[in-house]
Amino acid sequence: AASPLTDLEIARRATLRPIMDIALAAGIRHEAVELYGNYKAKIDPAKLAEDQAEPRGRVVLVSAMSPTPAGEGKSTVTVGLGDALAKAGHKTMIALREPSLGPILGMKGGATGGGYSQVLPMDDINLHFTGDFHAITSANNALMALVDNHIYQGNALGIDPRRIPFKRVVDMNDRTLRQIVVGLGGPSQGVPREDGFDITVASEVMAVFCLSTDLKDLKRRLARITFGYTYDKKPVTVGDLGAEGAMAMLLKDAVKPNLVQTIAGTPALVHGGPFANIAHGCNSVIATQTARRLADIVVTEAGFGSDLGAEKFMDIKARAAGFAPSAIVVVATVRALKMHGGVAKENLSTPDTAALQEGLVNLERHVDNAAKFGVTPVVAINKFTTDSQAELDAILQWCRRKGVEAAVADVWGEGGGGTGGDELAAKVARAVEAPQNFSPLYDLDLAVEKKIETIAQQIYGADHVEFAIPAKRRLAEIEANGWGRLPVCMAKTQYSFTDDPTRLGAPSGFTITVRDLIPKTGAGFIVALTGAVMTMPGLPPQPAAMRMDVNDDGEITGLF
Ligand code: ADP
Repeated sequence: AASPLTDLEIARRATLRPIMDIALAAGIRHEAVELYGNYKAKIDPAKLAEDQAEPRGRVVLVSAMSPTPAGEGKSTVTVGLGDALAKAGHKTMIALREPSLGPILGMKGGATGGGYSQVLPMDDINLHFTGDFHAITSANNALMALVDNHIYQGNALGIDPRRIPFKRVVDMNDRTLRQIVVGLGGPSQGVPREDGFDITVASEVMAVFCLSTDLKDLKRRLARITFGYTYDKKPVTVGDLGAEGAMAMLLKDAVKPNLVQTIAGTPALVHGGPFANIAHGCNSVIATQTARRLADIVVTEAGFGSDLGAEKFMDIKARAAGFAPSAIVVVATVRALKMHGGVAKENLSTPDTAALQEGLVNLERHVDNAAKFGVTPVVAINKFTTDSQAELDAILQWCRRKGVEAAVADVWGEGGGGTGGDELAAKVARAVEAPQNFSPLYDLDLAVEKKIETIAQQIYGADHVEFAIPAKRRLAEIEANGWGRLPVCMAKTQYSFTDDPTRLGAPSGFTITVRDLIPKTGAGFIVALTGAVMTMPGLPPQPAAMRMDVNDDGEITGLF
């Protein structure tokens, strides 16, 4: 069923239930609910009932094949699958990331799903929501104000102003801020140094926020952040400066997960949102664990394809939080398969089963990747109105030959009230019951370069990893500073298994080049930079913002 309405129009026509009703129905008691108006609430995990102390729910991770620039519908499938599982009688909760304003005003679109599978109120969630990103931005920038003030006031810690990799942040795509000089204007205006802004979702404070188990753990991790180095190249941490108390204070409410509802009334926690190319790309551990305390099945997603979000979900998030995911849903689309089969972007709506067959090698590697973590994959074919039956059948047939469960999901067109997600839900419900054999891909005791090689060879299909000179130097520093046991967070293009976004399909026999390594000692991982990954995106020639408006009554248009 095609929908002529935009996501925003569909969202506006939906009837929302008071969020307190949604909370009570999800088993959250009154005392744990902090209302932000009628349709949003923060949940205080410390105030849940005693018999909800242990996280027990099974975790279903929604991942995808290598995406087209438009996204393959992970959020949409996450919401639709959650609705369909709830409709089938499973106690279900959805756990999503919060959208970043930069990409919304740029071109990516929101992160609240689409069609009839959306979380609501979508305009609030996509704009300022409950202020979490404001709090994270403030905590990050409070640190940087304290650092520059410390240098100005005499620099007792001996911080080298030329060695401060930590940046200020703003939740905006603003390329002009990538490289700036601060402290100009004479002796009373601070100490001049080269600086720059990252987007908020690339901040280490965001990654810390999303990996912390509670406020105490958050403060401990903040204290561990290495923001810079002394003149003799010793790391300086937030704890050395003594800023973790103020930073944690600014985050004390933000760390409580946000409860909202889907169009079908399924409870969803939308909380935290680190980038999946530069950071680990998953919603907060606190939200996932809270959902696991309340529901039998938790459906969550991780950014981009299985090579990025899912690998980090397994090796960083699940390992740190200590849970074993029960199934991976790999979202595939006819258009992405055709793109990997060589069809140009402007022709993706034209049926082409031959090209689609060519593109299946990309899906295959993502499906095989799920198995490498010992987690059962289920392929979800996110149906578009332009898909031909022959194309859909070709994917299903391939999955049967491959021996992987698959279902066509029309959750965008039908939503939780329809039947579009029933088959997928049934297959996922069966998959989570199967015996589990989860293990992270690599052992933390492996040397950092070996961890990177393992990911590159096992997950990307590379032959070899080349470390550029700055990366080699950094490897030695990482060992010397005792950070060698941290997991690795790969920063790589989402469009290809390689570090070159133009190489589609499933290339092999290639080299991954690691340009540099950035230790994120608060978050607890080492970022390995490959290709030209941005920590501050720019806006496109026609930003989505130019189509957005608000009328005199405060009604929004153009927000997708
Ligand atoms: P991802 O999470 O993979 O980035 P989203 O779920 O956010 O993708 O979807 C990206 C965009 O594509 C949204 O605007 C959504 O409405 C649209 N979309 C998703 N699935 C479909 C579909 N089956 N048909 C049409 N549009 C879709």
